[in-house]
Amino acid sequence: MSLQLYNHLTRTLEAFIPINSGFVGMYVCGPTVYGESHLGHAKCYITFDIVHRYLEYAGYTVRYVQNITDVGHLVGDGDTGEDKIGKQARYERVEPMQVVETYTRHYFRDMDMLNVIRPDISPRASGHVLEQIELTETLIEKGHAYESNGNVYFAVNSWPEYGKLSRRKLDDLEEGIRLEDKGDKRDPRDFAVWRAATPNHLMQWRSPWGQGFPGWHAECTVMARRYLGLPFDIHGGGLENIFPHNESEIAQSEAAYGGEFANHWLLNNMVTIDGGKMGKSMGNSLNIQQLVSGDHARLSQGYSPMVIRFFILSSHYRQHTDFSDEALQGATKGYKRLVNTLTLVQQRLEVAKLGDIDDEFQDIVAEHKSRFVTAMDNDFNTPQALATLFDLNKAVNSLLNGDKTVSKATLELIDQTYQQLGGDVLGLIPSDGLTTVTQTDESKPALESELIRMLIDLRTTARKNKDYATSDVIRDQLAEAGVVLEDRHDGTSWRIEAN
Ligand SMILES: [Zn+2]
Repeated sequence: MSLQLYNHLTRTLEAFIPINSGFVGMYVCGPTVYGESHLGHAKCYITFDIVHRYLEYAGYTVRYVQNITDVGHLVGDGDTGEDKIGKQARYERVEPMQVVETYTRHYFRDMDMLNVIRPDISPRASGHVLEQIELTETLIEKGHAYESNGNVYFAVNSWPEYGKLSRRKLDDLEEGIRLEDKGDKRDPRDFAVWRAATPNHLMQWRSPWGQGFPGWHAECTVMARRYLGLPFDIHGGGLENIFPHNESEIAQSEAAYGGEFANHWLLNNMVTIDGGKMGKSMGNSLNIQQLVSGDHARLSQGYSPMVIRFFILSSHYRQHTDFSDEALQGATKGYKRLVNTLTLVQQRLEVAKLGDIDDEFQDIVAEHKSRFVTAMDNDFNTPQALATLFDLNKAVNSLLNGDKTVSKATLELIDQTYQQLGGDVLGLIPSDGLTTVTQTDESKPALESELIRMLIDLRTTARKNKDYATSDVIRDQLAEAGVVLEDRHDGTSWRIEAN
């Protein structure tokens, strides 16, 4: 089977066929940088990190564009309210671009921590105002937009396909729109492509319609076109922005430039808390720094970034991720099980003897790898992919605990498989090794002692098998690391020798 993905445009599972063979162009709506990144951001950008990683694993060259929204996104997510960045700048009494700079840095710091590979291009809306003015002019020329008091609106009734992504019918759009929201629009359903700025508006540019700033949806239309060309393969984002944002991106592009905008629309579902939506505007969101430090009333402890990532991947991207402290504790246990086995494999590798690869186990690895690929080919089914890794984990543990001597070649195969599937594809094993993925400081001693206990058990097994070379290597290397073993009639105890 080849990669199948769920396309929101057609509401079906489709075979993925890129426009240019071997190459994938992907655009994902990026963050509006006016505050700390939260769990909802983690879900969205880990989701598309997985898409990115898996496409590369499948042999594609990916160009991944993810914008930074630094102007034009209004508090109401539509055409009402203050600019989110401008509002924060007033609140913090700083320049809007200071707000942008600060939270952009924080965003990348947090995503780096979650092992999200950075996009190839992170264009900013404010750096593409000229293109947004050009888009607005083209829409006016083609009769799809009109000027009114320095604002330019997209005339939705000029574009019958408006609503094709969100499946909203034009006639139904009037419901819920209050007449007083009409303002200077011909039709209250119209949306702004360009906005007039009042003299005290913090970010504004000169345009054919006077001083103003671009509408939020315009930036994604022009930046996707500029860096990927039209049409492109994958447009991603959060399901909550399907309307009006994504819908309007499509309408603007297709009305101005003709043809399709994007072939596949992948949208991730939200993070819930107590069964309801979690969000900054709802005041119940947890930001990533709080999750790591544990500094939040809903958290009993801090969680390592890798545990947060594991937690996100344990539900499918199109499902809700329901946050709770208990769920994160469960994720900690699950993640530890994977890491403990891999650590064991790596420890055994250091002392293993050369020898032929275990044919039987090679088949077991191949079978699990193929199940993993099948799961990922099925619209990036990460819960199923993780379940397969846990099955492999069981097989590895019984191999390591069995009577057979496990050759270096077999251990290497297992290690590489974990690095490839758990590391390269799922991003759960940072490239700088396992030492950085141990728990937060409070829980680190527990993991340490668990690992030492495991090594002691390994040594005991080696001694029983009269494999004194292995048992001595374990004892000496632990001693080198400051862990002293003491053999007694009832077992082996250990202590950490202070230097
Ligand atoms: Zn967007």
